[in-house]
Amino acid sequence: MKPTRRQFLTAATSFSISYALLARVGFGQQKKPTRIILLGTKGGPRVGETGRSNPSTLILINDVPYVVDCGYGTSKQLLTAGIALNRLRYIFITHHHSDHNLELGALVYNAWITGLPAHIDAYGPPGLTQMIRDFFNYQKFDIDTRIEDEGRSDPHNLMTSHEFDKAGMVLTNDDVKISACMVRHPPMKQAYAYRFDAKDRSIVISGDTTYAPELADFAKGADVLVHEVMYLPGIDALVRRLPNAKRLREHLMAAHTLPEDVGRIAAQANVKTLVLSHFVPGDDASITDEQWSEGVRKYFKGRIVVGKDLMEI
Ligand SMILES: [Zn+2]
Ligand SMILES: [Zn+2]
Repeated sequence: MKPTRRQFLTAATSFSISYALLARVGFGQQKKPTRIILLGTKGGPRVGETGRSNPSTLILINDVPYVVDCGYGTSKQLLTAGIALNRLRYIFITHHHSDHNLELGALVYNAWITGLPAHIDAYGPPGLTQMIRDFFNYQKFDIDTRIEDEGRSDPHNLMTSHEFDKAGMVLTNDDVKISACMVRHPPMKQAYAYRFDAKDRSIVISGDTTYAPELADFAKGADVLVHEVMYLPGIDALVRRLPNAKRLREHLMAAHTLPEDVGRIAAQANVKTLVLSHFVPGDDASITDEQWSEGVRKYFKGRIVVGKDLMEI
């Protein structure tokens, strides 16, 4: 017997209701798609007048923000991306160069002053706990005054720092598994990449590293690899203007990755999408997207995105 229109509609309605219910209860699935927003894409600590902001990457998993690195400007960039600072929940630091942690304390402070309802968990290499303690000490007068004068909560209780000194699992919750891989960023020994395995998407953030084959293993099969990149002709133009040119060039060559090697890593890892970020030099507007990506493309045949601040992937 052919169903009547009414029966058909009823069946369609009950299907959509049960589907909605399944989506609401989770049923092993998360409710919102995982998003990546590049907050700051310029490598290095120098603050530019215009152009790219200092390094930070936001991953939203089930609408919960995970902030990877806190270069100068991170609070502002979060707000511009539409993330209220009182939503801050997880922070990850790849290593302790200041372009990755300068705003760590200030970001936590800004979340506190915005009336943070939740707890912040921060993860990173040794030194993280002391850095937060030192920041609270640096702002002791202000914080004590506001607690006394404005009746604010004690921010020391808002945050837990979790240090680790080797590769492995960093955090597991209902939405995501997050692991760390030690990368090569001399002279620092403690420098890490992070991998986020959410239910709908896997994402790897390289942190700062020179060519590191172990990163290709770590990023194997990821949907998105966000990798740092350095452009040699741009470096040479940059160091010509600086008094510490020789030492700086040596550091950059030993500690960062040229486009060809980024392409090799992405190809070895067989990722679907490669996002270039942490550009060195990051404030030379004469370097085109094509120049950033042409060396990469020699080795990697997948999708290449030349990152920009506030770009969503
Ligand atoms: Zn850096
Ligand atoms: Zn670095």
